[in-house]
Amino acid sequence: MPELPEAESIARALDHALAGRVITKVEVFFPRLRTPLAPLLSAGLPGRRILGCRRRARYAVADLDDGRALVLHFGMSGVARVEDARRPRRKHEHVVVTLDDGRALKFEDPRRFGAFEVQELGPDGWPVSLAGIGVEPLSDDFTGEMLFLASRGLRRPAKELLMDNSIVTGIGNIYAAETLFACGIAPQRPASSLTRRECAALVRAARRILRAAIRLGGTTVHDFRNVDGSEGKFVQRLKIYGKAKCPRCGSATAKVVLGGRTSWYCPACQH
Ligand SMILES: [Zn+2]
Repeated sequence: MPELPEAESIARALDHALAGRVITKVEVFFPRLRTPLAPLLSAGLPGRRILGCRRRARYAVADLDDGRALVLHFGMSGVARVEDARRPRRKHEHVVVTLDDGRALKFEDPRRFGAFEVQELGPDGWPVSLAGIGVEPLSDDFTGEMLFLASRGLRRPAKELLMDNSIVTGIGNIYAAETLFACGIAPQRPASSLTRRECAALVRAARRILRAAIRLGGTTVHDFRNVDGSEGKFVQRLKIYGKAKCPRCGSATAKVVLGGRTSWYCPACQH
């Protein structure tokens, strides 16, 4: 599942490929992904110019010249490509948006947990469906003090705190594991036991790891591909996620399932 760095890489690539282009045709080839696709056909999209593309949480938001936006979520297996419109459609390409330069934005999603919608923007300048999600981890709003306050009274594990989208959005399973390892904090520690100092360290580590992952185009695990088909290179930088041995002390790593997701950690280094 694409996490924040992958979504950021995709949004930047889409911005480069789509900014200034005019939509000439919209086709859908399946009734619905996570949400129905038919509204795309009746939304009056042909003739609309795409101003650019930006990211919020794990969504790519392509702004249109009429104040609406295309909102893409990649679910488990979604892939967005911008390529020659004449290239034959792949089996699981459910949405094809043809552009005025002979290319097309194609959305492929074999498992169909993704979404491709057109939405109005809300008062905050973001699509209405994205209202109420937590702060962006790379924004100035994500601070140690903010995380510390959010963790007070929370018996849930520290890892779930980092992955709670209503608190901070876009730190998924891989990056939460890496962040906790960097800070020597066990994923199952109750969030309420985190100190101010630990919360500040978690914020610094999460930002550093996410920035590095964005620089390297994200982490390829399973089906993720960037918009040009290349794979993210951050996977080579992972220290604990999916590892059998701790790179710091050499101990065998342990796994624990929290909130339905497997978390690797080092029992010797993380407490
Ligand atoms: Zn260790």
